Amino acid sequence: MLRIALPNKGRLSEKALDLFETAGLKAEFSSSRALLAQLGPDFQAIFVRAADIPEYVADGAADLGVTGADLVAESGRTVEELLDLGFGRCRLAVAVPEESAIRHPADIPAGSRIATSFPQITRSFFEAMDVSIEIAPVSGATEIAPHLGVADVIVDLVSTGSTLRVNRLREVATILESTARVVADPAALADPAKREFLDEVVTALESVLRARAKRYLMANVPRSRLDEVRAVLPGINGPTIVEVADAGAWVAAHAVVDADRVYQTIARLKALGAEGILVTKIERLMP
Ligand code: AMP
Repeated sequence: MLRIALPNKGRLSEKALDLFETAGLKAEFSSSRALLAQLGPDFQAIFVRAADIPEYVADGAADLGVTGADLVAESGRTVEELLDLGFGRCRLAVAVPEESAIRHPADIPAGSRIATSFPQITRSFFEAMDVSIEIAPVSGATEIAPHLGVADVIVDLVSTGSTLRVNRLREVATILESTARVVADPAALADPAKREFLDEVVTALESVLRARAKRYLMANVPRSRLDEVRAVLPGINGPTIVEVADAGAWVAAHAVVDADRVYQTIARLKALGAEGILVTKIERLMP
C-alpha cells in the first residue's frame, strides 16, 4: 500500500482533497477526526501539516505528498516535484514599512532584523546578495513585527497584497513564487513497482487539471456553414460532426473548447446561425 501525505488543514487542504476525489481517489475516513484514510484501493492518505509534508516525503514515510513550493524550498529537503497543481498561488516577498526609505533589498542596511517564518529561504536570499541580516523567527502574523519594533523588515507570503496594505507595509522584492505541488520520495520513484502507481496518480490528477480548463460544447449548426463552424471550433482534432435525425439542413457539432473562451465561442457560433447550444463541464480529459 503506497502512502500519500495530504495537508490536514489550512489553505491547501480542501482543494487537495477535492482534486483527489475528482480524480477518482476519494478519501474514506474511518472516523471524523481520523488522520488516516483509505484513498482508492491502492493508497493510504496520511493527514499532516503542509509544512511537515516535505519531511515525510523525503524520509520515505510517505511516497507522495501535496504541499506548497514555498514549504518544499524552506525544508531544504530533496524531493522530486512531479506536478504543479496551480492552486495555493502566492509569493514570498520582502516588505518594509510604508514610510521606509528602502526601495530595494540591496538598500537594507547590514545588521537589520528580519521577521519571518521562512528563516532558511530568507537567510540564503540575503547571503546571495551579500547583505548580513539577523532573523527574528516568528510562526505567524509576521506583518505586526515592524510595528512592535521586533523587526525592520519582514519576509512573508503574499497573495493579493491586501494584508500588507492594511498593515502599512510595502513590498520591495519577490523571493519566490509558489503554488501547490505534488512531490515524491526519490527512492519511491526509483522503485519500479511503486513508480507505476505514482505515475498513475499523477496522470489522473493531470487529467482533472486539464479538464478544468476546458468545456464540452455542443450545438446544432447549419450544414451549409460547416467550414466556418470548423474555424470557430478547432477542438482537439477539429469538431465532431454528428447527423441529427430528420434534421435536413442541420448537423450537430461537438468540441472541447477553452473554458475562458466559451463566451466568445458561443457568440461566434450564434452569428453562424447555431441553435441549441449546450456547454458542460468535463470531469477528466486524457490527451
Ligand atoms: P497552511 O499554513 O496550512 O494554511 O498552508 C499555508 C500554505 O498555503 C503556504 O505555505 C502556501 O503554500 C499556501 N498559501 C497560498 N496563499 C497563501 C497566503 N496568502 N498566505 C499564506 N499561505 C498561502
